[in-house]
Amino acid sequence: MKEATAGLPGHDAVVGLTRAIEVVSLLAAGSLLLANIAHAFTAGLLLHWWSPLVVVTAGLAADLVSGLVHWTADTWFSETMPVLGRRFLRPFRVHHVNPDDFLKRDFVDCNGDVAMLNIPFLSLALVIPDTTIGAAVSLALMTFSLVSLPTNQVHQWSHMPSPPAFVGWLQRHRVILSSDAHGSHHRAPYVANYCIATGWCNRWLTAIDFFPTCERLVSRLTGLQPRSDEQIFAERW
Ligand SMILES: [Zn+2]
Ligand SMILES: [Zn+2]
Repeated sequence: MKEATAGLPGHDAVVGLTRAIEVVSLLAAGSLLLANIAHAFTAGLLLHWWSPLVVVTAGLAADLVSGLVHWTADTWFSETMPVLGRRFLRPFRVHHVNPDDFLKRDFVDCNGDVAMLNIPFLSLALVIPDTTIGAAVSLALMTFSLVSLPTNQVHQWSHMPSPPAFVGWLQRHRVILSSDAHGSHHRAPYVANYCIATGWCNRWLTAIDFFPTCERLVSRLTGLQPRSDEQIFAERW
C-alpha cells in the first residue's frame, strides 16, 4: 500500500508479516540492549582506564556508519533494483522529494529496520568472553548499538517543528542531530551532513571533503554518476 499526499510520493505502509518482524526486532533489540547494560555494570566494563576512549570511539563510529549508509543510499544504485530498491532505496528518494512524509511514519515503521540490523552486534557483545580485549569489544558493540538504534527516530525528531521538550534540549545541546544541522542536507544538491545519529561527524567530514572525495573515487573506478537515480526519481514528481 502506498501513501501519497498532494501529488507527492509517499512511504510504503509497513503491514502484515513485515510489520510483525519489525515489532519482534524492536522487542529483541530492546531486551538485548538492557541485557548489555546489565552486563556492562556487573562485569565492570565502564571501570577500565580505556573505557571512556572506547565509548567515544564507538559513538563516533555509529554516527559515521549512519552517514556512510545514508550517503550510499542517496548516491548510488536504483530504486527499481530487485529487493533492496523498493525496501531500502525508495524511502531515501521519497524523503528528498517529500520530507514531511517522514513524520507520518509510526514508531515501528521508523525504527524496526535499524533494530533488526543491531541484533547481531548486541548478541555478539553478550557472548564475548570477559578478557581485556573481549571486554573492550563488548563495550564498543554495546555503545555502537546504543547510539545507532535510535538513528531513524533522531532523524524524524529533527524534522518535527515542535519535538518533545527533552528532545529539543538534546538537539540544542548538540547531543543528537538538530533540525538546523540536518536542514542543510535537505537543500539541493543534497550533499552535506549525511550523518544522522548524533551528527557529531558532519563538521569533520565536511572539513576534509570526505563524501565528494569518495564520490570522485567511485566514479573513477566504476563510471557511475552520483545521484543519477535520484534525479530520475525527482523529475517524475
Ligand atoms: Zn538524504
Ligand atoms: Zn531528513
